[in-house]
Amino acid sequence: MILLFERGKIADFFGTFFEVGYVVVEGERIAAVGPGPAPDAPGATRIDLEGRLLTPSLVNAHAHLYSSLARGIPLKVFSPTRFGEILEQLWWKLDRALDLDGVYHSARVGALDHLHTGVTVVIDHHASPSAIEGSLGAIKRAVAEVGLRADLCYEVTDRGGLRERDLGLKENIRFAQEEADGKRFSAHMGLHASFTLSDETLAKAAAAAEPLGLAFHTHLAEGKEDPTDALQKYGLRTAERLDKFGLLTPGTLLIHGIHLSQAELDLLAARPASVVHNPRSNMNNAVGAAQISAMMAKGVKVALGTDGFGTDMIGELLAARLLAHHATGLPTTLPDPELLAIFRRNYELAERFFGLPFGKLASGFAADLVVWDYNPPTPVHAGNLLGHFLFGHISGGLRPYLVVGQGRVLLRNGQVETVDEKPVLDQARAAAQRLWSKI
Ligand SMILES: [Zn+2]
Repeated sequence: MILLFERGKIADFFGTFFEVGYVVVEGERIAAVGPGPAPDAPGATRIDLEGRLLTPSLVNAHAHLYSSLARGIPLKVFSPTRFGEILEQLWWKLDRALDLDGVYHSARVGALDHLHTGVTVVIDHHASPSAIEGSLGAIKRAVAEVGLRADLCYEVTDRGGLRERDLGLKENIRFAQEEADGKRFSAHMGLHASFTLSDETLAKAAAAAEPLGLAFHTHLAEGKEDPTDALQKYGLRTAERLDKFGLLTPGTLLIHGIHLSQAELDLLAARPASVVHNPRSNMNNAVGAAQISAMMAKGVKVALGTDGFGTDMIGELLAARLLAHHATGLPTTLPDPELLAIFRRNYELAERFFGLPFGKLASGFAADLVVWDYNPPTPVHAGNLLGHFLFGHISGGLRPYLVVGQGRVLLRNGQVETVDEKPVLDQARAAAQRLWSKI
């Protein structure tokens, strides 16, 4: 299938900018990009952008699709005084109440939320301890219906005992062997966090991942519980403990990285793994501010995710800057080049996991695109796309008009093309009611 987008502003975060230009998509890749009128393209479906802004789509480097049915959840008890109590009073109750049906409906509406915010690649971290077997398959079905790409894993943990731990390991292995194709769906070995994982479990996970070539996806030093536990039980800082088991490999995702020592930052800079920053979740959970600028100055690879706190990656990017300003007291922390490097890291991760280049409007890159309904009051040019993304978005002026994933139109004129959204939301509300009644 050939799609030809014409008469639009064409821009990416690598310096491509045409005031008026075109993009030709063939199959899952971009075939041509250029300024001015579009060339002849026999057999192509032509889409007139009427001056709208076309950019690459977005990547969420850390999501929890299972949290989608938590919106408005009534909790009998919720009075946490520290991070561990947020898990105990909310998330570990919700995830235990999920059955496979709940996992599916949660993932489907979570995927739709990503689509509506211009995200076509979701890197997810899943937990449903009462329904582990087949849970990644249920998420895959839901995401495939909506038309996104996803990297999936199950959060292995000791918190529910050895049987659940082994089922989690098995589900990661099963999904990697049977369901991940490395194109639309890829796999990680998921781990919850150091403080719920024994040495024996880390060794088992590392041994299982090695022959499959799987990298790891784990929370790291999100609350103070993590370094305290690692120091008391094992005499190591959290990142040092993961490194001891050889987990800091290329493709490994270390989520949060808040309570880290300078020596750990040096260690992370020397390893190919990425830290994934989730500033709005961190502020909500009152766990502190990751030292993102200091990390980047040392050479740590930093990406960006939402941690299930919505799906809005542009808002998250702005939050990264606001949190950095607030935490350091310096209004120049995380300047444009650093924010752009974070966004580009997300695209590099997508390339590693899905086997084709992302994020640039150039021939051969993934045909994952967003057309934004955006009519700005100030000029857009090659050097100021980031400013328009951050401040056009916060002003409510930057909304996806059309989204292309894997060369296919998934959303047009703000309406989802792949599924009938109303019954999906009706079914999700019924599933949420069932879920909430168990908590
Ligand atoms: Zn998380």
